[in-house]
Amino acid sequence: MITCRDNLGEETGLTKKILIVEDELKLVEVLKEYLYLAGFETFSLCNGAEAATWVRENGPSLVLLDLMLPGRNGMDICKDIRAFSGVPIIMMTSRIDEIDRLVGLELGADDYICKPFSPREAVGRVKAVLRRTGEGLAVKIAGLTIDESCHLATLAGNKLDHSAVEVASGGQMQAHLQPAAVHGEDLS
Ligand code: CA
Repeated sequence: MITCRDNLGEETGLTKKILIVEDELKLVEVLKEYLYLAGFETFSLCNGAEAATWVRENGPSLVLLDLMLPGRNGMDICKDIRAFSGVPIIMMTSRIDEIDRLVGLELGADDYICKPFSPREAVGRVKAVLRRTGEGLAVKIAGLTIDESCHLATLAGNKLDHSAVEVASGGQMQAHLQPAAVHGEDLS
């Protein structure tokens, strides 16, 4: 069994875990790079057989799931995962006509993306699905948490003044931190 796993984000303190289940390794590499640059922690499996178990044990924030996989196909994995988890799932397929069929099967996937897709499009879908499903995008670095979905930033639990933090659209988050910007009285 060929299995590949990666953890690009663990040492950098990034939070949202995205699992990519895909056997096209070039696509995996590109997706990982773009998701990492967008602030996500990425993991990948190239065999479907252990995908559901991995989800159960590691609790990712979202799963990008290929349809045709060695070990176990994406439809069965989606059903397996839905039996115990509501984690957002984006199915990836190479045929646009398959999407209608997949939607009709009501597998419980949150979105479908047709190959070939641009990595930017994939990142956009990931963010959109996370927003829609309430996961949002929160990035945590050394006590600083920025939640893009609700434009909220905290440092060591203290809410930061909006003037101290600029949360721009498109995943570009910048913080200009000054000690005076921390409002302890805002703690709730
Ligand atoms: Ca495949």
